[in-house]
Amino acid sequence: MGSKGREIIGMDVDELLNLLRRAFSDEWLAYYQYWLGAKVVKGPMKDAVGAELLQHATEELLHADMVAMRIIQLGGTPVTKPEEWYKLTNCGYDAPDDPNVKTILNQNIKGEQCAIGVYKRLMDITKDADPVTYNMVLQILQQEVEHEEDLQALLEDLELMIEAVRK
Ligand code: FE
Ligand code: FE
Ligand code: MG
Repeated sequence: MGSKGREIIGMDVDELLNLLRRAFSDEWLAYYQYWLGAKVVKGPMKDAVGAELLQHATEELLHADMVAMRIIQLGGTPVTKPEEWYKLTNCGYDAPDDPNVKTILNQNIKGEQCAIGVYKRLMDITKDADPVTYNMVLQILQQEVEHEEDLQALLEDLELMIEAVRK
């Protein structure tokens, strides 16, 4: 990377690269979990839920893009083998084997809550050390917070609908 750009980083760049490679792995797994979830989801409100899941998939892929660009800028290499994603991930992968809309929503809410924790920690670590990464992480965190809220709102609608039908 540019020498002055590296000089302003007040932390160990290799340590930062390791954290970014882990976040990068999370984003690809989140992308795939959403993308497949959008295809297989079944049950009430599946169209609304599927559309939201697909939108989130697109946004997770954009996060992977942002993190990859920063890794390269820092002189690192994004994870080159998908099998490494499993070894590096913070948040794991919840296979959408059960297509029930409520199960899928809960799996992805859990994933977003994990992502929020990961990016909050990355913000704390980079706060005074690396303003460029900090700014990127903030942008991603804002979207993860939005994702959690979107899914919890859908789950709430779904539960109200089921309750109304029972009455
Ligand atoms: Fe993301
Ligand atoms: Fe997300
Ligand atoms: Mg959304």
